[in-house]
Parts: sequence; structure tokens; C-alpha cells
Amino acid sequence: MEYPRILFWYRKDLRVNDNKALIKALALSKAITSIYIFDETYPYDFNSKSRAWFLSESLKELNENWEKAGSRLLFQKGSPTHLIPFVAKKINAKYIFWNKPIEPYEIERDEKIKADLKTSNIEIIDLWDHLLINPSEISTGSNTPYTVYGPFFKKFKAKIDKLNFDNEEDKDFRFEKLKDLKDELIDNQLITKSKSIFNEFIKDINFSGKVICPCKPGENSAEELLNNFISSQKLINYASQRDFPSINGTSYLSASLRFGTISIRKAWGKTTQLNHSTRNENSLLSIETWQKELAWREFYQHCLYHFPELEKGPYRKKWNNFQWHNNNEWFIRWSSGDTGIPIIDASMRQLNQSGWMHNRCRMIVASFLVKDLICNWQLGEQKFMEHLVDGDLAANNGGWQWSASSGMDPKPLRIFNPHTQTQKFDPLCNYIKYWIPELSKINNSDIITGDISKSERKNYPDPVIQHNSQQRLFKSLYADI
Ligand SMILES: Cc1cc2nc3c(=O)[nH]c(=O)nc-3n(C[C@H](O)[C@H](O)[C@H](O)COP(=O)(O)OP(=O)(O)OC[C@H]3O[C@@H](n4cnc5c(N)ncnc54)[C@H](O)[C@@H]3O)c2cc1C
Repeated sequence: MEYPRILFWYRKDLRVNDNKALIKALALSKAITSIYIFDETYPYDFNSKSRAWFLSESLKELNENWEKAGSRLLFQKGSPTHLIPFVAKKINAKYIFWNKPIEPYEIERDEKIKADLKTSNIEIIDLWDHLLINPSEISTGSNTPYTVYGPFFKKFKAKIDKLNFDNEEDKDFRFEKLKDLKDELIDNQLITKSKSIFNEFIKDINFSGKVICPCKPGENSAEELLNNFISSQKLINYASQRDFPSINGTSYLSASLRFGTISIRKAWGKTTQLNHSTRNENSLLSIETWQKELAWREFYQHCLYHFPELEKGPYRKKWNNFQWHNNNEWFIRWSSGDTGIPIIDASMRQLNQSGWMHNRCRMIVASFLVKDLICNWQLGEQKFMEHLVDGDLAANNGGWQWSASSGMDPKPLRIFNPHTQTQKFDPLCNYIKYWIPELSKINNSDIITGDISKSERKNYPDPVIQHNSQQRLFKSLYADI
């Protein structure tokens, strides 16, 4: 029997397991070639050393998997709107498969390709894969998208409880099923070019934080992180440990979920499996708390899908009139972890050195930049995108707008005090002392209050501002809008 040729386009789903569009494509034909395009006009990957590293390592593993199965992962560089139709025609593809995106740039790009191929004899099949529930399947009683997390979660949970991800037909889709593929690619030029594009991409990768970055690239590592999160009991202790940055208490799966080296269904499926097998109340609370975090991811993705304008600015338009001070020297001190306020500097140093930052610290430094230094949150959003290995438009924008109070969160003005946050979440200053070794000999109580004498500070800077007076100033500027 003659198999129809398929081109499978990888984007944020860099895996062979439990990949919706891939499962569908394989059901149709074994004559399948996959492709990844380095699209430098996509604004959110190629400006970050940590993400370029994560991407390259994940692609390396993916390519090996495809070659073992008898086919290949082709690499191209340039505009997908031109390259996808070009390669599809070159290999005589009858179908192109991909998983649907939620970001405005990606949606527009895909629509253009669909329009261009409309009159050709190539059919495009795209499926939802990146989310647990599709954005069009969840809405308020008046049929509008949710803009507040609480009610969103209630509806989301009710819907998701009806699905059974640990028992779905494709749950058992494992790598060994990706085999006996038929790749009749005869165009040697395409293959030679593909190799040189990938080699050129990896040649420039110089992310110095790869050893200490807690997120690990590739499908195998993602699976290990998830299994370890469960077997080491981190999941059942999550509620009590997740807020302490000195504790290894979270999953570190954010980059894996961002790049799709693991499916969100697999992560959720593990929570429901565990839910069935435990009666302990604290464990059940922890499982639900982690599910709520996965739901925050889902919420922000849905929000961006329904309100693409979030990418460009505040959800609450009055914030366009806010008089930001944007003091460049303060912003640079915040960015480099030199504000003289220990919890801020420890967090920013963690980000700069490892490409990742603990969630509690992300909230503290974001509040500090916006509400103490009075800098526009979009500067912080950009800085995070430059460094975060899990940098994701929807989650990052959502996190910053939440911290800036410009987003969908109904609470009008949340201000974090860096000193009380330290007292609550790093009371022994282990996290601070790890990232700021020059403070290792200072009393914890002085680190917490910030009352460190000049002689003790040595090379560590004086505080850039005083929290109380800046907070008053911020509130008066806020009153103006
Ligand atoms: C200002 C700010 C910026 C952020 N930027 C990003 C970003 O660019 N990319 C990103 O993935 N997360 C972002 N977050 C959310 C959160 O900090 C990270 O997802 C989390 O720290 C990742 O660690 P983990 O994988 O160990 O998470 P866990 O605690 O194990 O949580 C499991 C998963 O749930 C999701 N998740 C958890 N919390 C959130 C949240 N608040 N919003 C959205 N998803 C969440 C992530 O996919 C995470 O991997 C941001 C938060 C803030 C406050």
C-alpha cells in the first residue's frame, strides 16, 4: 500500500510521546518526516542564552529519536510562512500536521500558511495539544472568557474531573511506537543544509548556567523530573514547601512544559493517579495545590489567546497613564542583583546565573521593581524573558501584570515588603547566603531587617531605596490614576 507523505512541524511540542498531532499523523501514515524551523523573527526564543541551550539539547535528543525510528528531523532557518510550503512541496507531502499555538505571532503565522496552501493539494491538520482544556471550551455563564482566576479554576476543575488523563487511549503512546517510519527523502541538498543549520545553531550556544539550572532539556529528563517529583515525595509535601526558595520543593518542570518536552496531560494524569491512592489530608491538599499551579499556567494561556493585546501592555488601561520614574541606574542595580536588599539581590543573581528563579522570589522582585523602584513592569518582563529558561509569553506577562496590579487579578494594590517576605520565606537566610556569599557571616536578623552596618557590608552595596518611603510615593502616584 502506498502511504501518503506527511510533514510534521515541531514547535512547542518537542517530544515523540503523547503528542496529539503526531499520534494523529502516525495513524494516517508511516511516511513521515518532521521539521523544526529556527525562526529568528519569532520574538521570544533567540534572545535568550538559557532557552537556546534548552532548545538545542531537546532538539538533539528528538533528532536521535526520529533517526532511530527510520526517519529524520529536518532543520531549516528563516520564515516558516515560506519554508513550510516549500519543504512540503519538495518532499511531495500530502499532509502537514502541527499542534495549535496560542501566541498572537504564532496564530497569524499559521493562518498565513493555511491561506497560502488553500488552493494546493496539501492538507493541513492542526490539533490542540499544549493545554488541558481548549480556550473555546471554557467560558462564563454569559459566554465570555474568564478574566478572574478563582471562578476559572472552579469551572476548569469541574471539566477536567470528567476527563481521565491517566486512562486515555493515547496515554500509553510510548516512544517504541515511533518505529518503522518511511522517509523517502531523496533531496540530499535538503539534508546537507539541515545538518549545517543545526551545527551552526549549536556552535553559538554559550549558556554558562547549564550545570546549575534546575530545569533539564529533553524528553527523558522531563520524565525523570516528573517521576522524581513524585517518588521523592515533593508532590505530597508541595503545599508546605513550595514557598521556600532554599528548599528543593517544586517540580522544575516549567521549561519542559514550555517547550513541550513533556505533555501537560501526563503531568496532570500523575496527580489524579496519586489522588486515587492517598487518603492523607495533607497529601491531598498538596496535590490540589500543584494542580492549581498547572491551572494558573492554563489560565494565562487562555487569557492571552482571548486577549492578544496583553502582549503589548496593561489589561487595565488606566495604567497607561501611570507616571513611571524608570530610573535607569536603579533598574541596572535591580537587574544585576546589586540593590543592597538581600532577598532581591539573591533572587536576581539566581536568575542571572542559573536561568531560573523560584516563584516566590519572582513575585518579590517583580513587586519591588514596580512598587518600590517605580519602574514600568514591562522592563522587568523583558529582563525575565531574556534570562528565564522557562520564559513564556503568557506565563511571564501574566505574572508581571499580576505583580504590577495592571492585570486581571481583582485585588487592587498588592505590595510586597521585601523584609517581611524574607522573614516568612527565608527565615534562616540560607537562600540569601547561598547566592550572596559576602553576607554569609552577617546575623540573620540583620539580613532580614536590612540593618547591616557599613563596616559589615564591606563590598555589598547600601540599599538603593527605603521600602517605606517608596511605598508611600508609589501609592500617591497610584492615586493619580
Ligand atoms: C513575574 C513572574 C514571571 C513568571 N514568568 C514565568 C515564565 O516565563 N514561564 C513560566 O513557566 N512561569 C513563569 N512564572 C510562574 C512560576 O514562577 C514558574 O512557573 C515556576 O516558578 C516554575 O517552577 P516549577 O516548574 O518548579 O513550578 P511548580 O511549582 O512545580 O509548578 C508546576 C508548573 O505549573 C506552572 N506554574 C506554576 N506557577 C505558575 C504561575 N504563577 N503562572 C503560570 N504557570 C505556573 C508551571 O508550568 C510550572 O512548571 C512567573 C511568575 C511570576 C511571578
